Amino acid sequence: MRKKIRLKVLHILSIGMFVLLTIPKLVGQNSDSLNLAKESQHFAFYSTNDDLKVLDSLAITLENNYSRITNRLGIQIEKKINVKVFPNIKAFHVAINYPDAPDWVVGSSNGDELMMVSPLNPGTVHTYESLMQVIVHEFVHIAVSYARGDKGWTTLPRWLNEGYAQYEAGQINEHIRKIVESSVIAKTPPTWTQLATASVVEFGNMNGYGLSVTIVDFLIVTYGIEKLVLLIKEPENIEIIYGLSQNALEKQWIQYLKPEK
Ligand SMILES: [Zn+2]
Repeated sequence: MRKKIRLKVLHILSIGMFVLLTIPKLVGQNSDSLNLAKESQHFAFYSTNDDLKVLDSLAITLENNYSRITNRLGIQIEKKINVKVFPNIKAFHVAINYPDAPDWVVGSSNGDELMMVSPLNPGTVHTYESLMQVIVHEFVHIAVSYARGDKGWTTLPRWLNEGYAQYEAGQINEHIRKIVESSVIAKTPPTWTQLATASVVEFGNMNGYGLSVTIVDFLIVTYGIEKLVLLIKEPENIEIIYGLSQNALEKQWIQYLKPEK
């Protein structure tokens, strides 16, 4: 059961990104029923009255991760980030203009705004705890967009963007490592270039999320977080940053995944 949920969590993230990429301008249309209900140091929370009681936990989760992420990326965000907490999955799906979305679509980021389903009413797939990770994941995407400034998303490899968001949100664990390890032993994984340029659907189908977080984990454990942050800002300089070709790094990553025999 747990296995199934973990796999679905990965899928959810791909759907979330899909929504973000395809219909960003329509996001937030159904936010009128939410009121500004709480402000923390760096976030402003909008919710219904029924969800007031979860806002303290959401605020603590985001604030506990805020300084680490912004300091690592070397950014300051001058304004508060809006967090819209929808009372149920249906309301959230209408808000993202994807009314027929499956139940695992629970979080999204758009510009400076985060939107999510209430952890008190997570639907059939997600849990309170997994939604607390999803909201951090989405905040990381916003922070990365600040770190890149005018460069935007186009030259940022998808594996780096999604891998780093998962890493900071704590969405890597032994179970995901094992799945990726088995898949790499069974067949040659996609190259980093394939993972960088895949469409969202292709990325999801090739287990791009699971593979990506292990690449980021490998790079941080082996070479440190500072080089990874440089890479996020200047991915075109991967050889200069690491002193190795991407191909050589890929071979090290595969070795890293395979258990010692
Ligand atoms: Zn993501």
